[in-house]
Amino acid sequence: MAMNQLKEALETLKDTGVRITPQRHAILEYLINSMSHPTADEIYKALEGKFPNMSVATVYNNLRVFREVGLVKELTFGDASSRFDFVTSEHYHVICEHCGKIVDFHYPGLDEVEHLAAHVTGFKVDTHRLEIYGTCPDCAGKEVH
Ligand SMILES: [Zn+2]
Ligand SMILES: [Zn+2]
Repeated sequence: MAMNQLKEALETLKDTGVRITPQRHAILEYLINSMSHPTADEIYKALEGKFPNMSVATVYNNLRVFREVGLVKELTFGDASSRFDFVTSEHYHVICEHCGKIVDFHYPGLDEVEHLAAHVTGFKVDTHRLEIYGTCPDCAGKEVH
């Protein structure tokens, strides 16, 4: 599964004329295997041993290239640094308020909200965002009762 995703992602880069460097390959691999929503900094820390000359800025620039060709989504949360999501299909996030973990879930029912919003406001609606906040099972387990 992960291997296919990597292959497809590399194909996308090839098709769009983006050069596949060893760093880009490693960043994609990390995004696919981690299945989390890492920041550029987290990716940098995970890969710096492999690429001693790489900087956080390089990682960020590569992520922006991936975003431009539609391979990743950039998630911004107020003042916190951006997180990158390899899953670009429509999905929502539930976020742990204690450790910041983000987990994907699917809920197709909200498309209707876009139609309603467009109808009520006259806006041409493009997209929507939904975030659910709470305590993840790991953090809930750590709590003292
Ligand atoms: Zn947590
Ligand atoms: Zn996600």
